[in-house]
Amino acid sequence: MRLVTFRMDGRPRAGVIGPDDTVSALDDLVPGAPADMVSVIERWDALAPQLRDPALSGVAGIPLDRARLLAPIPRPRRNVFCVGWNYAEHFEEGRAQRGAAGAQEIPEHPALFTKSASAVVGPDAPVRHPAPHSAELDWEVELAVIVGMAGRDIRERDALGHVFGYTVANDVSVRDWQRRHGGQWFKGKSFDTHCPLGPWIVTADEIPDPQTLDIWSRVNGETKQSSNTRHMVFPVARIVAELSAGMALEPGDVILTGTPPGVGFARKPPEFLHPGDVMEMGIDGIGVLRNRVVAYGDAT
Ligand code: MG
Repeated sequence: MRLVTFRMDGRPRAGVIGPDDTVSALDDLVPGAPADMVSVIERWDALAPQLRDPALSGVAGIPLDRARLLAPIPRPRRNVFCVGWNYAEHFEEGRAQRGAAGAQEIPEHPALFTKSASAVVGPDAPVRHPAPHSAELDWEVELAVIVGMAGRDIRERDALGHVFGYTVANDVSVRDWQRRHGGQWFKGKSFDTHCPLGPWIVTADEIPDPQTLDIWSRVNGETKQSSNTRHMVFPVARIVAELSAGMALEPGDVILTGTPPGVGFARKPPEFLHPGDVMEMGIDGIGVLRNRVVAYGDAT
């Protein structure tokens, strides 16, 4: 199933995309269903069978191309968890810029950091160019994992059972600020609007193996990244196990799983984004997340 959060009657509503590519609010289909996605995830075991009721297929929805989509989880309860350097070639392409002080070998454990939950925006939302703070705005397409079932100390072999679904993320990054603050990436990864998510969540039953997905990005129509999630150094199950060690994961947590090679700062010569640029982030089997860069003062 594909689940969205969309704006209807002036407020965010959790919805489902039908086979005819129309969007219906869950609480129009199932009386008493929650309007926010995290509550939907928490109550999914009860909701899913009701949503599969064939009688619902006759309910008229809004055509998908006219629905005003927000991020599937517009404001996660906690910071967005992220993995750095999770594709070997991306680790290699950044080696020169990190210099002698940076990591030189792929570590035994994933590099973990977070982005502020306030950075999340949805499909087609403007992404704010950071000038005058910086001119080094960059893109990173990533598979985003949405946690379903809570758990602490989740074993790797049980991990995918804790996954509710998947969406596409753009780990937008301000490169010079990423390295400026004591080696902690938080600040340079958390500018407002710098965590596009969407366009929808595909439930995990439709993606039994998350390590088989083509993943790509385009800027102004030109392909910049093209890889497959099988090239992850740490697969989704390992990431869930590692993150949950001693720290419970909660329903609705969002985990970004790292980006393949082809980001701007490592290109020769380096390429950075400018106002007007259009980023398209795609994962086959999920969808395409599109956002335009706007000047600092133009984003709302
Ligand atoms: Mg990243």
